[in-house]
Amino acid sequence: MLSTMQDVPLLISRILTHGSTIHGTSQVTTWTGESGPQRRSFAEIGDRSAQLAHALRADLGIVDDDRVATLMWNNADHVEAYFAIPSMGAVLHTLNLRLPAEQLVWIVNHAADRVIIVNGSLLPLLAPLLPSLTGVEHIVVSGPGDRSLLDGARPQVHEYEELIAGKPVTYDWPQLDERQAAALCYTSGTTGDPKGVVYSHRSIYLHSMQVNMTQSMGLTDEDTSLVVVPQFHVNAWGLPHATFMTGVNMLMPDRFLQPAPLAEMIESERPTHAAAVPTIWQGLLAELTAKPREVSSLGQVTIGGSACPPSLMKAFDELGMRVCHAWGMTETSPLGTVARPPAAAVGTDEEFAYRLTQGRFPAGVEARLSGPGGELLAWDGESAGELEVRGPWIAGAYYSGPDSEPLRPSDKFSDDGWLKTGDVGTISPDGFLTLTDRAKDVIKSGGEWISSVDLENALMSHPDVAEAAVVAVPDEKWGERPLATVVLKDGASADFGILRAFLGEKVARWQLPERWTVITAVPKTSVGKFDKKVLRKQYADGELD
Ligand code: ADP
Repeated sequence: MLSTMQDVPLLISRILTHGSTIHGTSQVTTWTGESGPQRRSFAEIGDRSAQLAHALRADLGIVDDDRVATLMWNNADHVEAYFAIPSMGAVLHTLNLRLPAEQLVWIVNHAADRVIIVNGSLLPLLAPLLPSLTGVEHIVVSGPGDRSLLDGARPQVHEYEELIAGKPVTYDWPQLDERQAAALCYTSGTTGDPKGVVYSHRSIYLHSMQVNMTQSMGLTDEDTSLVVVPQFHVNAWGLPHATFMTGVNMLMPDRFLQPAPLAEMIESERPTHAAAVPTIWQGLLAELTAKPREVSSLGQVTIGGSACPPSLMKAFDELGMRVCHAWGMTETSPLGTVARPPAAAVGTDEEFAYRLTQGRFPAGVEARLSGPGGELLAWDGESAGELEVRGPWIAGAYYSGPDSEPLRPSDKFSDDGWLKTGDVGTISPDGFLTLTDRAKDVIKSGGEWISSVDLENALMSHPDVAEAAVVAVPDEKWGERPLATVVLKDGASADFGILRAFLGEKVARWQLPERWTVITAVPKTSVGKFDKKVLRKQYADGELD
């Protein structure tokens, strides 16, 4: 028997219409540096999104599921692109502006992007690539920047404001199939070519509802979220969509992502929530230590993307900025787990330990652990295996170009369709995930596994250590052994003997690294994570001794 419920598709245009009417007075504030914050209401964003959609259709000829790319920072114009492009039925392709030039070219051509909306400040990055971007017909420039860089460029160049000016502020959004492509995001491609993940209207809608749940971010229209996680990195963890469902104000840092302007933004705009990877927060912590600011508004900080070091969580707690740890991937939209301790643990000694886990799975994410032979492991908090997930906002395949079938590589998807995350860890009986490592970063020493993350966390809790990354290096006797690379704080006096003894109090003796090196900074990936591939290569090339 079928239900008697209405079959209304879950569409992004619905989120836009809701946010720009019911929450029309909520605001997106964009940091502009010298010229003061720029404020735009959700109602204005609704109007301007309709205008952008008209311009894309009438002036630039965007039809059906054409791809429209953005090469933009987090700002209000980018939010408009987020809503206009999928709502009209086209596909939003967010470009990671930190990728090497050749990868950007590859991705734009692979996705067959017809239009790129670009922030003026990023023209120095885009202009030299244009001759290689064969399918791009139009460039739309938003915000300040040197337009002369585009002189003589082949695609037609338009000004964002001129393009949308005078267009109608309503659009008859089409009733799309909710399973249709809405947005395209490539993984950062730490190994091999980048892989395209295509989100549907339905997956984004359901994911946004999960982001809003009390046991996830749980924000309301009394909140302002400082969205540091880039809009080009897994849809800024779903925040632009989720906030339009609930009226949460957004504070967008644009290109001002350095610790000092972030601290200034927090002090003057008083956000209540913020989201970013640990690297950003390590930088902010150093800034606040050197120059204390009034940051008491920031009650909740969502940290994910890599493991949150316990020392960072403690330091933020002491500043009144309570950390909520979460895990996810480009392939999981990204929300996979959130570490909110169960009621029974709140106020007990166990609470902190729960907060340090990657978190608990929501109803929309099914999980299982797969052992070395593919056997399923128990959720006993001890058996470690590869995490596999499935659910309505989890990828089931990768995009393989406009005319090809989606790709389902066997190292990424199980025969029965689950996503193999490549993350290794345990799950407790009450559903909390603890990741010990990425499969490719685990150190396999004499038949035992050493967690690089455990060693890093232990090292980063030493007061003289700013950052530490541990990688596997080949070893004749053991197969692999850990190499500890350490960034010392200014004026620090600790030497390797001291650090080794400190580590010896926290991990088993056989895990202690014999190889140590001081570096000036840990190399980072395009989304700000430790780039261990680079460290391994530097070691192999004899650059780290
Ligand atoms: P990339 O794979 O290029 O780094 P993603 O942003 O999709 O791009 O990264 C997802 C990966 O980041 C996960 O598979 C996991 O290894 C890591 N990750 C994300 N959140 C956490 C976390 N809270 N703790 C540990 N690792 C995390």
